[in-house]
Amino acid sequence: EAKRRAPGTLRVFDAEMREEERLRMQVAADLPRAAERAEMRLVYQPIVRTRSGGTESLEALVRWDHPELGSIPPDRFIPLAEASGQIIPLGAWILDRALEAYAGWRRDPRFPRDAALSVNLSRRQLADPGFCRTASTLLAKHGVPASRLHLEVTEREVMDEPEAALRTLAKLRAGGIRIDLDDFGTGQSSLAALHRFPLDVLKIDRAFVSGLGVDATRTAVFRGVLDLARTLRLEVVAEGIETPLQLEIATSLRCDFVQGFGLSRPLRPEDVPAFCHAAAGGLNRPRLAA
Ligand code: C2E
Ligand code: MG
Ligand code: MG
Ligand code: MG
Repeated sequence: EAKRRAPGTLRVFDAEMREEERLRMQVAADLPRAAERAEMRLVYQPIVRTRSGGTESLEALVRWDHPELGSIPPDRFIPLAEASGQIIPLGAWILDRALEAYAGWRRDPRFPRDAALSVNLSRRQLADPGFCRTASTLLAKHGVPASRLHLEVTEREVMDEPEAALRTLAKLRAGGIRIDLDDFGTGQSSLAALHRFPLDVLKIDRAFVSGLGVDATRTAVFRGVLDLARTLRLEVVAEGIETPLQLEIATSLRCDFVQGFGLSRPLRPEDVPAFCHAAAGGLNRPRLAA
């Protein structure tokens, strides 16, 4: 492979690798103080009911505005935070901030009483024996009922250490918290394994949603996942809805909830009550943003 490159290419490639590694190390080194320096913030993407157009939940998504490197996506720094263990305090900070925002929305008359809050969990948090305690302490601190909180876990995270995950999830759910399986279809969990987990909602990964209406086979695959969720008595979110056609098909297949740029980009917390109020208005069907 290297031999086929023009002379000098390998050295450039090498330099790029070193630069990449240097950046990775800087990101890892800056991470512990990022939250206290207020470089981290949360945005919230609505999950919308196909039946009424009302807001089912708001999913918290973390953003890092690095003073030198600019915006760093969570897919880049969450894995680093996991590797260093930093995800434990960072994850608690995220849950604290999200619950604080949610408690604020609940005081706003435009915010629907039945809208929930969804927060992503990482595998280290799931394996942390102290997490259930952290969650109940933070719920109490902000006066939010456990039943209003959904925690999103991915198939991969759960399958990593299924026994430990099973114990934590069962404890959280016994306390009233809802559990959503995120990015469903991208892992390799068997039906038998899935059936054992205490779940409330399946979020069908964008990879399946993007196939809606493209051809009969890909639409049928999506429908198959939907049927599976019904068999397991779970509610279903289609994630990554971008086009009117995807929304129309997901709705006609009676998928419970939809989420995606086509309905709303992630919102700043101060914009959430107005979005929910508009969505709950007379014309209740989800309307795609232009
Ligand atoms: P996720 O939980 O599956 O979140 C969905 C991601 O897809 C978000 O990216 C969202 O902005 C993006 N998205 C939503 N609708 C669309 C669409 O219509 N089209 C496309 N192309 N993308 C869409 P984001 O915010 O970059 O987050 C990426 C992943 O990082 C998340 O995937 C989640 O696994 C992780 N993450 C984000 N915030 C947190 C957090 O607070 N804690 C943890 N542990 N993980 C987080
Ligand atoms: Mg998620
Ligand atoms: Mg997802
Ligand atoms: Mg996803």
